[in-house]
Amino acid sequence: MRAPLFVVFFDIERKHFHMKATIAILSGDGIGPEVMKQALAVLDKVAARYGHEFAYQEALIGGIAIDKTGDPFPAESERVCEQSDAILLAAVGGPKWSDPTASVRPEQGLLRIRQHFGLFANLRPVKTHPALASHAPLRPELLEGVDILFVRELTGGVYFGQRQEQGDGGEAYDTMLYTTPEVERVAHVAFRAAQGRRKKLTSVDKANVLSSMRLWRRTVMKVYEDYSDVELEHLLVDACTMHLLTRPSSFDVVLAGNMFGDILSDEASVLAGSLGMLPSASLGSDTFGLYEPVHGSAPDIAGQGKANPIAMILSAAMMLRYSLRLEEEACAVESAVEQVLDDGARTADIAPRGDAYVSTEEFGQAVIAKLS
Ligand code: NAD
Repeated sequence: MRAPLFVVFFDIERKHFHMKATIAILSGDGIGPEVMKQALAVLDKVAARYGHEFAYQEALIGGIAIDKTGDPFPAESERVCEQSDAILLAAVGGPKWSDPTASVRPEQGLLRIRQHFGLFANLRPVKTHPALASHAPLRPELLEGVDILFVRELTGGVYFGQRQEQGDGGEAYDTMLYTTPEVERVAHVAFRAAQGRRKKLTSVDKANVLSSMRLWRRTVMKVYEDYSDVELEHLLVDACTMHLLTRPSSFDVVLAGNMFGDILSDEASVLAGSLGMLPSASLGSDTFGLYEPVHGSAPDIAGQGKANPIAMILSAAMMLRYSLRLEEEACAVESAVEQVLDDGARTADIAPRGDAYVSTEEFGQAVIAKLS
């Protein structure tokens, strides 16, 4: 476990803790630099308002890193991340690097970061803003009060188990393997998150069919002994896919393994109305984390000022909460975004068809104005 690098000191006059922290900035490709610019402007405002110092260390990742160094996550970027308190990443990829037969691809950079830093817990909040309910494919009354936090196991399970494709291509297998410690550590993350929210945890598995999922359920039940204030529900993954659409507001924290969490969180992402709204955090066993929007590099709208910066700004808010332990500041940013939406500002992806919309920069500036 690595110790945090940030320094905290107490301002007696203002009765407030001030922090000096270093953040690795990986803007990547497509709309990445556009949305990152807004997130950094918001962080600058937070720093000025609360008396913190955030030092940004820029580094290469993804397609631009391949172009400049031949490597999607070069050693210099790894060094910058290692010397930071957290990583803010925007998006990687694009048509220029999307040849499926290429041996070097932008997304390899993302997998390498997760593995290198042991980021085993992926947190994805999905919240429906009332004014955006009409953008989602469900009836607005079903979306009332939807506020779910997905906790997905990120470095184990079937994506990392032993696999083989036989020589003639006629047979192939992947192995879903989980160990008790792997399940325990991510379950603790999920239970602790539930304690700070509405105190309900849904653990998703396929315990009726898969041995690895019976171990998952047994382990979650054992970890539950430490969290008697949380209500625990077990759901089979097939039932969960239905309940997410029929009763989405009944979920608080949803804990799932790597593959089921991947699929369920993508299913639930439509509840928010646009991919441009969804942030994420990937955490390990200490305060270090990687924070990135759920969306990709959106090459179809890159360079047009149409990108929604909310996912990136809310990813920065998650960084304030989980890596820098600045809960008040994180809430202030989240509330500023809500207020801008309440005022009616919409980027192109969430504006009703034919209506005027604001640019990426204008939305960012509106969030900053709410933080004054
Ligand atoms: P995408 O998320 O980039 O875009 C899907 C659709 O959502 C597009 O129509 C896009 O315009 C829209 N969109 C996405 N983010 C938006 C935002 N912030 N504001 C407004 N609209 C937004 O997914 P894709 O088109 O499948 O992939 C494009 C590239 O991104 C590919 O190269 C893919 O490999 C890569 N990708 C990267 C990541 C990542 O960096 N984590 C994730 C997914 C895809």
